[in-house]
Amino acid sequence: MTPEARKVERRPAGTEEFRDEQRATCCVIGCGPAGAMLGLMLAREGIDVLVLEKHVDFLRDFRGDTLHPSTMQIMDELGLVDGLLDLEHTKALRIEARLPGGAITVADLSRLKTRYPYITFMPQWDFLDYVTGEAKRYPNFRLEMEAEAKELILEDGIVSGVRYETSEGPREARALLTVAADGRSSPFREQASLKMVRTSPPIDVLWFKLSRHDGDPKDTFGYAGGGRFMAVINRGEYWQIAYAIRKGDYQKVRADGLEAFRRSVGETIPDLADRTEELQDWEAVKLLSVQADRLRRWHRPGLLCIGDAAHAMSPVGGVGINLAIADAVAAANILAGPLRERRVRSRDLMAVQLRRELPTRAIQAFQSVAQRRVISSSLGPDGGPSLPAPARALLRLRPVRDLPARIIAFGIWPEHVKHREPPGRSGRTPLAREESVK
Ligand SMILES: Cc1cc2nc3c(=O)[nH]c(=O)nc-3n(C[C@H](O)[C@H](O)[C@H](O)COP(=O)(O)OP(=O)(O)OC[C@H]3O[C@@H](n4cnc5c(N)ncnc54)[C@H](O)[C@@H]3O)c2cc1C
Repeated sequence: MTPEARKVERRPAGTEEFRDEQRATCCVIGCGPAGAMLGLMLAREGIDVLVLEKHVDFLRDFRGDTLHPSTMQIMDELGLVDGLLDLEHTKALRIEARLPGGAITVADLSRLKTRYPYITFMPQWDFLDYVTGEAKRYPNFRLEMEAEAKELILEDGIVSGVRYETSEGPREARALLTVAADGRSSPFREQASLKMVRTSPPIDVLWFKLSRHDGDPKDTFGYAGGGRFMAVINRGEYWQIAYAIRKGDYQKVRADGLEAFRRSVGETIPDLADRTEELQDWEAVKLLSVQADRLRRWHRPGLLCIGDAAHAMSPVGGVGINLAIADAVAAANILAGPLRERRVRSRDLMAVQLRRELPTRAIQAFQSVAQRRVISSSLGPDGGPSLPAPARALLRLRPVRDLPARIIAFGIWPEHVKHREPPGRSGRTPLAREESVK
């Protein structure tokens, strides 16, 4: 099916309203990692897809910038990994923790059997520019920036699209399937009467950057001790730093003042004490209110939620972007056929949830243990992570020792691209690939 954008004149009784109407087989709300990947994969399958993004560009700092081996494998299967690795990035082969008693390796990805045994750090906006650039090669992919979805269109209990705002006025997108990939504050879950299961993570995170100097360590570290927990990520020219605080303590940290905050950073990581002055004001420090929740049901007729909209993840392990991408791959694998046949049943949507819910819940459980046992306990008066004796004994066994690296790298149930060759190339679906258009 070719994209069809119709301008229709609508005059509801008593008004002079004009509304642009777009039609697509699938309308995706939100062009984060989940929405961009779903858009690309459906376009590649020959599906007419419209992606709506409320922002003018993808420039947002401190988002999920951590591409794990599972995502690199997916990009490889899409034939896009070389182009991705041409973009500026850094790699972490292992994650170490510096504790008062000495350093330990938390996860050694270099020992894993994969072509990409490392975490690739890359600004999320570069990743999204790249994915949408590839998607735009397909004429059946449309991306509307500065298009903020407002309200689901419900007809006889079935979602048949969404109303949205643009700089040129209100529009409607009519679609066989609408996908909410608009992140962890998605209003469409409530509009669709989908219920959330919420948890109460004990921490929040402050993100900031400090410059990297010649002679600095190369690796990515966690620091725990003295009542503090920080993760320090090598981003090439700078360190990206996560400073954990107890949930709700942000105002107290601010009230104590920037100087006290700088001192605390320098005391925890003496290697960086010489440059904490770079934090000139609180604008340089971004609060991530850690949230972990999930929908009981990810769908209703005509609507599917994926990524953070279906399950907000804690930043522990940097898995959020990778799970969002895995959701998109599963959704495209399962739904491309029904969308092509223009018959998406509830059981198709349920199949996406069934495939992704268990891996998501398992990772959330893993994060919850790490938050309570390691991070939150580091912030307490005893100031050190506590591991019960049986867990310590288990950690000496090699398969258990490799478990954190495996979970971080692949999650519980890695997704793979069903059609390594786009269907158009094998002649099953007409797919005019415009090689010249980027
Ligand atoms: C400060 C911070 C740090 C993080 N650090 C990490 C990390 O280190 N590693 C990691 O893996 N994860 C991290 N995460 C989480 C990670 O960014 C998310 O898990 C991941 O981006 C989820 O992808 P998504 O596509 O589901 O949603 P999002 O990335 O939230 O994307 C949603 C998109 O929808 C758009 N949108 C929202 N509402 C509308 C609307 N009404 N109409 C149209 N468009 C809309 C948004 O602008 C956005 O582009 C972090 C998150 C934050 C906030």
